[in-house]
Amino acid sequence: MPSPPEDCLFCGIVRDGTYVAQTKGFVAIADINPQAPVHLLVIPERHVDTFRDVGAFPAREAKRMLEFVADTASGAGLTDYRVQVNVGPTAGQTVFHLHWHVLGEAARAHGAEALTTAVSEL
Ligand code: AMP
Ligand code: ZN
Repeated sequence: MPSPPEDCLFCGIVRDGTYVAQTKGFVAIADINPQAPVHLLVIPERHVDTFRDVGAFPAREAKRMLEFVADTASGAGLTDYRVQVNVGPTAGQTVFHLHWHVLGEAARAHGAEALTTAVSEL
């Protein structure tokens, strides 16, 4: 597998960022420019450019990634939400390190502090 670009924003966040949730191999962060009351990003620690290359994850890791997307949403108090992956620049991808957007209204959590508390309990 080719090595990740040294200037990859999300590789940097995986190394040094502030997470709202974490599991082996994956982190979740708050989107810096939220498009919904709750807007989280689930990021694999491993650098994979886009969802097109999702086959780079072994089946077991891919399953864990999907479960972590669902756990991150439920940890944020969401029952109904959208999961979005933008694939390629014309589809809106701006950061070329695979990530999953989790967007929704806060069901249980009210405000950033409650959200962080709810998600950190994952
Ligand atoms: P995409 O456009 O699908 O590639 O999504 C990239 C997302 O990363 C956008 O929603 C941005 O708002 C978000 N983003 C960019 N920089 C940061 C950052 N430093 N911390 C958190 N989210 C970021
Ligand atoms: Zn990266």
